[in-house]
Amino acid sequence: MDKEGSSQDGMVIVYTGNGKGKTTAALGVALRAIGHGLKVCMVQFIKGEWHYGELNSLKKLEPDFELIVAGKGFIGIIDDDHAFGEHVKAARTALNIVEQKISRGLFDVIILDEINYAVNLGVLKLEDVMNIIHKRPKKVSLILTGNHACEEIISLADLVTEMREIKHPYKKGIRAKKGIDF
Ligand code: ATP
Ligand code: MG
Repeated sequence: MDKEGSSQDGMVIVYTGNGKGKTTAALGVALRAIGHGLKVCMVQFIKGEWHYGELNSLKKLEPDFELIVAGKGFIGIIDDDHAFGEHVKAARTALNIVEQKISRGLFDVIILDEINYAVNLGVLKLEDVMNIIHKRPKKVSLILTGNHACEEIISLADLVTEMREIKHPYKKGIRAKKGIDF
């Protein structure tokens, strides 16, 4: 078999689990894909109110990389002062954006960041996410991140990695570090 594989089909990739590294793994794939001339779009489903370092660096990759921050911050924890309905609306908007991006056909890889949490917390319907996965042109790759990925999505995916926490500095009371955690 040649090095590039026999098929032009994209893949459905899931990064889940309780350990750190899901979003950064997806960004690693993006970096690799862009190096081969592919175009990547990342839509963030949950977070939107912290200033993540990647917001700055990804700008430098435009137009090969497009980042859309659609989420409304953490749901139900930390400093969440949004009504649940607002999160539902934001997550639906994010999903509509993904649909539009797919239908315009401009991107080879689409990262649905933290979407697994959104489904798990009930702000998105599993059925709607499954529809998007099924309906997409097969050449488009999707990367779904977030812990508690649904069994249905896992069954459908081609590649699933579970990040398992062995150690996290948070457990020692060390707070999130600039450049590593955000
Ligand atoms: P990263 O964005 O660093 O790749 P992630 O996508 O795997 O992490 P998320 O669940 O999206 O993790 O959480 C994002 C933030 O929470 C990151 O700052 C990360 O360091 C932190 N975090 C991730 N896993 C844990 C954990 N097991 N305990 C405490 N904090 C965590
Ligand atoms: Mg993440």
